[in-house]
Amino acid sequence: MKKILVTGGAGFIGSHLCERLLNEGNEVICLDNYFTGTKRNVVHLLNNPYFELIRHDVTTPFFIEADEIYNLACPASPIHYQYNPIKTIKTSVMGAINVLGLAKRTKAKILQASTSEIYGDPIVHPQVEDYWGNVNPIGLRSCYDEGKRCAESLFMNYHKQNNVRIKIIRIFNTYGPNMHPNDGRVISNFIVQALNNKPLTIYGNGLQTRSFQYIDDLVEGMIRMMSTADDIIGPVNIGNPNEFTMLELATKIIDVTGSGSKIEYFKLPDDDPVQRQPDISLAKKILHNWEPKIQLEEGLIKTIEYFKKIL
Ligand code: NAD
Ligand code: UDP
Repeated sequence: MKKILVTGGAGFIGSHLCERLLNEGNEVICLDNYFTGTKRNVVHLLNNPYFELIRHDVTTPFFIEADEIYNLACPASPIHYQYNPIKTIKTSVMGAINVLGLAKRTKAKILQASTSEIYGDPIVHPQVEDYWGNVNPIGLRSCYDEGKRCAESLFMNYHKQNNVRIKIIRIFNTYGPNMHPNDGRVISNFIVQALNNKPLTIYGNGLQTRSFQYIDDLVEGMIRMMSTADDIIGPVNIGNPNEFTMLELATKIIDVTGSGSKIEYFKLPDDDPVQRQPDISLAKKILHNWEPKIQLEEGLIKTIEYFKKIL
């Protein structure tokens, strides 16, 4: 039985990861400050004697023994990470320093939940891991993008300087049950709007693209990455390469929900990336032919079922 620490474990991705790790017979410590996550996401795990929930902010040090660490603590939706940008940077940077220090002391393996935002508004398409990106260092999204870029640098340097056993994954847009209904991300917004027969809010002309990955495919990729040999450190893209415009996404969600909603257009936020699609050749190679199994329509149906229950 491994003792596994998941920071940000009460959030959308973290809650699925904690459940899967427990189901595989591990002891799981979930650490969260509940900024965007909630106890509700993990309440069904509280009776499990091998699950422990700790309220803590990763910007201050903590002392826990662990064999593996998944570092997920950080708000992920633009409205949440822009709410207090300085705090977002502190969470990524000081959080990384604190978890890396912990990994150094305990000799734990540690995985960083990095992001496709590392590539900014990418000029290379699809995005390969050796592309360095096109990020505005002082723009609205920079608190998240540059915080995550600095965290990657910290992970790499703790590995080189202190032999910490690191893994870096770059997660592309992921969706599924346990997303917060007011999260502001496009899939949760569109589903909530469609179920309430309200207009779907497209920012810009709706021709910008994203590639959406269902949560189960991500969790599988994360666990496979953690179990790779110590010389495999990444960064590696984990995402679903099927690319859609926001207009196509809106039309699909209206169709699948059978909603009478119309579409309304709003101003595009500054620095909103025009296109995003992962090249997953490296993930397939190092993660034993890992690839996404759940395509958009199937994933949307599962996610819509969840929102119907909680709304
Ligand atoms: P989320 O907002 O649902 O989860 C983040 C969790 O971190 C929340 O439970 C929140 O309360 C917690 N948290 C935030 N600041 C904290 C702090 N200072 N101390 C302790 N806990 C803190 O978002 P998510 O979608 O589950 O994302 C999880 C991780 O994956 C994040 O690091 C995010 O950057 C990364 N990621 C997500 C996506 C995606 O599409 N969902 C894409 C790329 C990367
Ligand atoms: N978006 C939109 N309507 C919404 C929310 C988002 O058109 O109600 C757009 C947003 O401008 C972006 C895309 O959808 O182009 C994905 O946004 P999200 O916040 O989900 O993720 P990110 O921009 O971080 O990839």
